[in-house]
Amino acid sequence: MKYDVIIIGAGAAGLFLASKLKVNNGLIIDGNSSPGEKLLITGQGSCNITNGCDIKEFPKKYGENGRKIRRLLYKYSNVKLMEHMEHLGVPLFQREDGKVFPKSLKASDVLDALLDTAKNNGFKINLNEKVINIEDDNSVVTEKKKYKFNKLVIATGGKSYPDTGSDGSMLDILKNKGIEVLELKPGLTPIFVENYPYKIASGVSFKDIEINIDEHKTKGDVLLTHRGFSGPGILRISEFAMPGKKLTLSFVKDIKYPKTEGVSKSVLNYLTDYLDLPKNFIKGTLLKVGINEDDKMSSVALGNIKATIDELKNMEFSVSGTGGFAQAMVTAGGISLEELDLSTFEMKKRKNVYAIGEVTDISGDTGGFNLQYAYSSAMAVAHTIHSIDVNSVFPR
Ligand SMILES: Cc1cc2nc3c(=O)[nH]c(=O)nc-3n(C[C@H](O)[C@H](O)[C@H](O)COP(=O)(O)OP(=O)(O)OC[C@H]3O[C@@H](n4cnc5c(N)ncnc54)[C@H](O)[C@@H]3O)c2cc1C
Repeated sequence: MKYDVIIIGAGAAGLFLASKLKVNNGLIIDGNSSPGEKLLITGQGSCNITNGCDIKEFPKKYGENGRKIRRLLYKYSNVKLMEHMEHLGVPLFQREDGKVFPKSLKASDVLDALLDTAKNNGFKINLNEKVINIEDDNSVVTEKKKYKFNKLVIATGGKSYPDTGSDGSMLDILKNKGIEVLELKPGLTPIFVENYPYKIASGVSFKDIEINIDEHKTKGDVLLTHRGFSGPGILRISEFAMPGKKLTLSFVKDIKYPKTEGVSKSVLNYLTDYLDLPKNFIKGTLLKVGINEDDKMSSVALGNIKATIDELKNMEFSVSGTGGFAQAMVTAGGISLEELDLSTFEMKKRKNVYAIGEVTDISGDTGGFNLQYAYSSAMAVAHTIHSIDVNSVFPR
């Protein structure tokens, strides 16, 4: 059996494509027992589908590679994605922080709409069929069968949350075929450090603070968890967090040193009020700098108090690890962008074979930017295939 278009991967990118591309006979193949498993857990089940910020803000949300997809993002923008979803019968709303969700707050509504449209567009979906090879005679080999294609789209995602089916297996197949695949790293994952002092302050968060890992800098919100650091700023910089690297956090800025003379309050109570920060956070900090929280302010050397304030301005930790792929929201690395024509997402070395979504070397910030890229890259392929005369290229 020969298919017009075969899409490997019934995830966000594959389904966005199938929801936009009408074919005579199309096939989506997925190794998992149900489609869109990762899509269903996005935004904690409520699916932060894109961001409502100005499209000019988008490229910088994808790190160094963002400028390479600037045109793509402008052409198949957040506004286009929102129009598409509304057209499919999924009304959306934008939160104050810019994140866009379905009004129902149900990722399943997004998935159902994409699946229905894909089926109406001529795609059937074969589940429980992991692809194990792509052969030179334009065929795809699964654990069960071999299928011929006119056009093939690889939309197999990264390697994070492998239980959702995205296990990186396709990237090994492509590497063996001479396609350059950049090292896969967990992205958007919590960071763990040696001697983490803030277990007791779990749940405390900080807005827009400076975060550095070696020469990599970012600014963003930080959440203290029972095991380590999380929150959008930490997640963003996490791909650079290797064991032994130095993580620096600036919890406070421009704070004057307090006077200690004649202050009878305990260090803990005094600093909690003086810095206007949660008590458990100050407790953890005093533990880190080795000051007894019950000591009276007046009995602690001023130098030690100054050192504590300095520490809060520039607190250093040694990274012990990260949440890894098991807890990463995205995978950094993947098919090198050099392998792709970035206006069509066709592979330069394999005509009629395309790659979209997280399987490529793009990973974005939290805030809806990853699903936006899944959509934008899928639309580039839909547009390319549509603009060829479908009936003459794909005779029944
Ligand atoms: C917990 C969590 C929350 C997230 N929340 C958000 C959010 O709110 N907003 C946002 O923008 N992004 C979010 N993301 C990121 C976003 O989900 C991904 O970037 C996006 O799903 C990538 O889409 P994709 O189609 O490229 O890959 P995937 O959605 O991972 O789909 C890939 C599909 O390919 C299949 N597959 C893989 N290998 C094979 C093979 N060899 N043979 C057959 N099938 C195969 C898999 O089974 C899978 O179904 C989140 C991620 C996680 C883990």
